Order: sequence, then C-alpha cells, then structure tokens
Amino acid sequence: MRLVIFGRQGAGKGTQSKLLAEHFGVPHISTGDIFRAAISAGTEIGLAAKAIMDRGDLVPDDVLRGIVAERLAQSDAADGWLLDGFPRTPTQADDLDQIADPPLDLAINLEVPEDVVVERISSRRVCKAEGHIYTANDPSARSGICEVDGSAVVQRDDDTESAARHRLEVYAEQAAALLDRDGEANGVVTGDGV
Ligand code: AMP
Repeated sequence: MRLVIFGRQGAGKGTQSKLLAEHFGVPHISTGDIFRAAISAGTEIGLAAKAIMDRGDLVPDDVLRGIVAERLAQSDAADGWLLDGFPRTPTQADDLDQIADPPLDLAINLEVPEDVVVERISSRRVCKAEGHIYTANDPSARSGICEVDGSAVVQRDDDTESAARHRLEVYAEQAAALLDRDGEANGVVTGDGV
C-alpha cells in the first residue's frame, strides 16, 4: 500500500498516520520528523531547515525531492509506505509522481476547521525521541517525561501561536494549488479529521 496523508497542521496527520502505517505494515515517513531528527543531529540539512521551520515557512522543493527519493529507496519501503506531510506543493506532487514506482494507491485529505486546529496546535506537546503526541493536560506533558519512551516532552518550536498561524496561511495557499492539481477527480479522498 502506498499512501499519502495531507491536511492542515493539527489535523491529526501524525496520529492517523501512525495507526494506518501499523495497520498496513508500512513505514510511516513524515518529512517534518525527518527535519526534526536532522536538527537534533545537527546535520547540514537540519541547520539549513531550522530557521525556515521556526518561521513556519516551507523548506525548498528540491531539498524535499532528494530527501524523499532517498527515503523511499530504502529497503523497508520496498513494499509500501505512508507519506505524512509530503507532497505539500504542486512541484512536490510532480516529483512524487516521478519518484514513486509503483505509483501511489491513495491520497487522503484530512479536513478540520481552522479554529479547531489552532486550539490543537497550541496545546500539542511531543516527545523528543519518537515524536509521541500529547495534549498539554496529559500526564506525560505535565511531568515533561514521555510515558512510552522516557524522553523529554516539549512544545515544538513552530507550535507557537504566531508560527502556527503563519503555517496555516502557507498551508491554505499551497493546499489550494495542490487540490486543484490532484483534486477529488484524481483520486484524493477527503476524511473528517475532527
Ligand atoms: P510538519 O511536522 O509536517 O508540520 O512539518 C514541520 C515543518 O517542516 C514545516 O512547517 C516545514 O517547515 C517543514 N516541512 C515538512 N514537510 C515539508 C514539505 N513537504 N515541504 C516543505 N517543508 C516541509
């Protein structure tokens, strides 16, 4: 199974992706997670991406193309994958058409109203090791220690209200272009993410 999940920040892509990837037995590949790991590891790509991500802007398409092509070529992705957060622009969608062989089976668009996602984003906390997701009131978020892997639970640098609002604006612009290109007529399924 080769799947893509998209939706605005806070739509629940990370949570749904983990469940779907487990269900289909395919790797969950989140480009945001790849960048956060690169930032933690202090790699060249991580250093370049950090300032862009903190502002809530998008990393350039050519960087994404290289990262995704390399990741999909790894052996655990030979029989399928679930891409979370990629493609986000029409150029990235064209790139995926070229990279994905065999091609994509399904693209899922998770729809959640903006006021719901702003609330979710500002209360989101994540663990540093494996990205387990909590809300500010969960015991792991309150103690600051992930109940699954024992790592620190923090707020993402780009989950501040101003960065989050900017990310939503960027998303609205890019998603409209992407859905114009890959709309429901072309096999995108819309799901209710509330
Ligand atoms: P996410 O975890 O999917 O919300 O991504 C966090 C940030 O990583 C985004 O705000 C972008 O700065 C960057 N990023 C992740 N995926 C992409 C992508 N497909 N294209 C451009 N930037 C991305």
